[in-house]
Amino acid sequence: MKNATPAEPEGCKRWAPAINAVVVAFVLIVPPLFLLLGGRNGERPAVWIKTAVAGLRRGCPAEVSLLNENAGAHADKLLGGLLVEGFDQESCRSRYQSAAYRRNTGRQPSQHLVSKLRSHEALQRRCGPGTAAYTNALEQLKSGKSVASPECRYLVSISYRGLGNRIIAAASAFLYAVLTDRVFLVDPSNGMDELFCEPFPNTTWLLPPGFPLVSYQGFYLSTPERYGRMREDGVLRTGEVNGSAAAELPAFAYIHLDHNQTDHDKLFFCDDDQRLMSNIQWLVMRTDGYIAPGLFLVRAFQGKLDALFPERDAVFHHLGRYLFHPTNRVWGLITRYYDAHFARARRVVGIQVRVFPWQADSPELLEQIKTCTQNQKLLPAVLGEEDDEPAAAPGGAAKPTAVLITSLKAWYYDKMKGAYWERATANGEVVVVDQPSHEETQRYHVRSHERKAWAEVYLLSTADTLVTTAESTFGYVAQGLGGMRPWVLRMGMINTTVSWPCSRDMSMEPCYHVPPVYDCKRRQDAGKIVPHVRHCKDWPTGLKLVDPKD
Ligand code: GDP
Repeated sequence: MKNATPAEPEGCKRWAPAINAVVVAFVLIVPPLFLLLGGRNGERPAVWIKTAVAGLRRGCPAEVSLLNENAGAHADKLLGGLLVEGFDQESCRSRYQSAAYRRNTGRQPSQHLVSKLRSHEALQRRCGPGTAAYTNALEQLKSGKSVASPECRYLVSISYRGLGNRIIAAASAFLYAVLTDRVFLVDPSNGMDELFCEPFPNTTWLLPPGFPLVSYQGFYLSTPERYGRMREDGVLRTGEVNGSAAAELPAFAYIHLDHNQTDHDKLFFCDDDQRLMSNIQWLVMRTDGYIAPGLFLVRAFQGKLDALFPERDAVFHHLGRYLFHPTNRVWGLITRYYDAHFARARRVVGIQVRVFPWQADSPELLEQIKTCTQNQKLLPAVLGEEDDEPAAAPGGAAKPTAVLITSLKAWYYDKMKGAYWERATANGEVVVVDQPSHEETQRYHVRSHERKAWAEVYLLSTADTLVTTAESTFGYVAQGLGGMRPWVLRMGMINTTVSWPCSRDMSMEPCYHVPPVYDCKRRQDAGKIVPHVRHCKDWPTGLKLVDPKD
């Protein structure tokens, strides 16, 4: 029956009072003990306790909400104030349920970020589609001229290429909209409407049909209104822009931040150009990258960014958790897999094996994965052929370690699964390896393919530990949402001898692959201007936000 509430397991009802008593005792007794003894692997006690309590409750659906109230996890449901109450829960279940599926509670957003998001939501409601302000702004756009001090200004974001690219691009474009008080609207093609719930209450982030720039999806290098081109041709000049000069500015500019951007396009990251752009009512931005590190180089934004993100390595972490809530179809994929494979697990290790359809299965890469996970003690070693078969815990009492492999190919999963089934582990740990899908090729605009990709990124983000493939935005999103510094498999290892299989990433932030190379005066390496923006390990010309203490 479609709307029937699933029956609560009998045992859950019967044992609920007893479990509550155990939980209360647990919460009172364990934290002091834990503080005395020190956390497991330096983990914060609160995280470990939440996981353990959730484990006690697991299997009792009705208890999840009880747990949330009793354990003060109400704030968790809203991710420390990142999210607001009041959305319809049924139309987007993931929004308020996600906290219950995360083993790592994640970082706390700053109060400044929380209040800025609330005021930005108000801006989206005041100026977004369906309002008089939006209608007026469209009229202005049709007129072709900007207006001095417009009531509302807009950023239309076109994110494209693979799912990881689209997510990091949209998150960082949103950051730019927040910094410049622009209404953020996303191009609904590329699955943005189908994969993600609406992030802003009582309005939409989707650019409605009928947008006057009919060819905006095709904007690229040759677009006459490209900002870099208008600067290069002298159509736009930086300097004082007063009322009458503002009226001479175009109604919109196209910001091109793709891999083939010119030096003039990169002026986007300069203060003088940002001042000029602030007078243009409509900006249309195309990027497939994470432009946030570049925004930290713009002096005019630095004060605001310091206040919003005192932890510089958690920018995508917060913005990603704020913006990207899987729609119910995707949430179904995630929760079914989670319940079947992770719910009983002692711990979960996610391994993202990014391979391309044309690459042959590589025994060297497999060896690299095994060496990395075993050297770093993420997974146990298996016994050799000559070792005795050890006794197992009776009746399946051992809680397994679940390994989630994501890849376009099944070969790596098959080999890893075989390795942990055919031989026992040296420490007796039971390791179960699984892979949700193997799509074989990358496909764009295929909904079922995109849903699986999003579900797998999300599942990786719910793991305790993550191993990712260098340079992959798919892995970047998982690590950022999950709040984990991953172990990164070196690229270029296929068909070479494995000596240094993986290394710990500098931060959980995505790498911006094609940033400006220098500061705006072209004197200083962009990775050396401020201590929290450094070159990435996996992509040395890229830029990455880090905690300068690390
Ligand atoms: P990147 O190319 O590694 O930076 O990651 P993207 O997510 O931007 O693009 C890769 C695309 O290939 C994804 O969006 C998926 O469509 C597909 N893909 C790659 N690896 C996987 C995988 O492990 N699982 C699934 N389901 N799809 C994948």
